[in-house]
Amino acid sequence: MTAVPDPTEPLAGWANTAPTPATVLRPQDVDELAAALDRPSPRGVVARGLGRSYGDPAQNAGGLVALTTGVSGIHHLDLEAGLVTAEAGTSIDALIRWLVPLGWFVPVTPGTRQVTVGGAIASDVHGKNHHKVGSWCDAVEALTIVTPAGGRQQITPASHPDLFWATAGGMGLTGIILDATIRLTRVRTSLLSVDTDRTPDLDTTLDLMESGDHAYDYSVAWIDLMARGAAVGRSILDRGRFADPEQLSDRQRRDPLGFRSGSLATFPDLAPTSLITRTTVRAFNEVWYRKAPRRRRDHLQTISQFFHPLDMVDRWNRVYGPRGLLQWQCAVPPDATDDLRWIVQQISASGQPSFLAVLKRFGPGNAGPLSFPVEGWTLALDVPAGADPDLGQLLDRLDDRVVAAGGRLYLAKDSRLRPELLEAMYPRLDEWRKARDAADPDGRLASDLGRRLGLIG
Ligand SMILES: Cc1cc2nc3c(=O)[nH]c(=O)nc-3n(C[C@H](O)[C@H](O)[C@H](O)COP(=O)(O)OP(=O)(O)OC[C@H]3O[C@@H](n4cnc5c(N)ncnc54)[C@H](O)[C@@H]3O)c2cc1C
Repeated sequence: MTAVPDPTEPLAGWANTAPTPATVLRPQDVDELAAALDRPSPRGVVARGLGRSYGDPAQNAGGLVALTTGVSGIHHLDLEAGLVTAEAGTSIDALIRWLVPLGWFVPVTPGTRQVTVGGAIASDVHGKNHHKVGSWCDAVEALTIVTPAGGRQQITPASHPDLFWATAGGMGLTGIILDATIRLTRVRTSLLSVDTDRTPDLDTTLDLMESGDHAYDYSVAWIDLMARGAAVGRSILDRGRFADPEQLSDRQRRDPLGFRSGSLATFPDLAPTSLITRTTVRAFNEVWYRKAPRRRRDHLQTISQFFHPLDMVDRWNRVYGPRGLLQWQCAVPPDATDDLRWIVQQISASGQPSFLAVLKRFGPGNAGPLSFPVEGWTLALDVPAGADPDLGQLLDRLDDRVVAAGGRLYLAKDSRLRPELLEAMYPRLDEWRKARDAADPDGRLASDLGRRLGLIG
């Protein structure tokens, strides 16, 4: 009798560019999640959280994908020490909902709350506070991981430095994370006190960030990549910190730690083509820039307004239509401002319609050989995929400049990097491969990204 193959489902990243079919496992507890590693599959297995990586790290064409979102919840909460132990499929959204009313916040949050604890470790995600506190894994005290070689084990940076740091930013290729203990940040209110500066050009933005970011816990600049001439790189710079109770109005003070959120709307699955065109984005960017205050101080904003404005529209990626989008994010050293200026000028001159472009500063990176953040600047931008035949060449040129500047691209956002550039971008790749080989000598863990970039054999 011929065995009936497992049914497969197409899976894509958030950019929705290259779906591939995989057999999807839906474990409901940590034991079932750990057992995903024992399921036979010639194409291996990879974990998948909420699928918010833009490219293909949580895809595994022809193999197994273990969806972690059924494995979610808090094991242990120490409100004195500010430590939480959560299962790998727990979202940052859920953590924020539970913890903020208790006076604690996640140490780091990306631009969306719809990210799991496992996904945050595997990409070693960063937020608007990297210059102050580093990335997500810097706040991980311990994690439980199952690997083909070692089985289930609890590891800390001190007990298993090689495996711990290879897993931090290791894109799910060292094992399946089952849970993690995370150090939280104390907050006295759920509102942020935000200072805004509207800048006329990139140099003013860079100057303001260089001279002033140290005074703020969080900092991010939105850049108008459609602006030309003297206005290239004009920005809206938002910087802030959690507000003190004294800054709140009487009404706000009645519930200083209240957290309410939800998406305001869901983007309809109707757009037959991308709504993102040069004309619409140029007009949008102009309005967005003009409506920002030139200079505003101590403006109170909610967590959603400051950290996660995109979450207010569920499935906003549909605005790019069926061809999806490309996200490109680089990090370059502190003195690479000429390179940064060149990159911004190139994008601006190309007329690529990019309205989600942000600039942040990174503090020193951590010990993870594949962890993305390195000290300096990081620029992230979205552009529609498949609309402009010159886009690939433009991004290749930008990649080359990033390498020449001693920088790198973010693997969680990538879907198109030339594999030969990887080693130059991540000079400690061999160290990472050694740790991965020790954890997974027979190559059970596999993903589309791992194969595409030659991370795995
Ligand atoms: C709107 C938006 C804004 C964003 N902003 C930022 C930002 O500011 N900073 C930033 O750093 N990132 C940002 N990201 C990227 C996002 O934070 C990362 O891609 C993150 O890894 C997504 O988590 P996820 O749970 O969706 O994981 P997935 O996308 O499902 O998977 C990502 C990786 O994690 C691995 N993984 C997931 N769970 C496990 C597990 N249990 N064990 C082992 N490996 C696992 C997967 O194999 C894969 O390699 C943003 C993404 C979006 C869509």
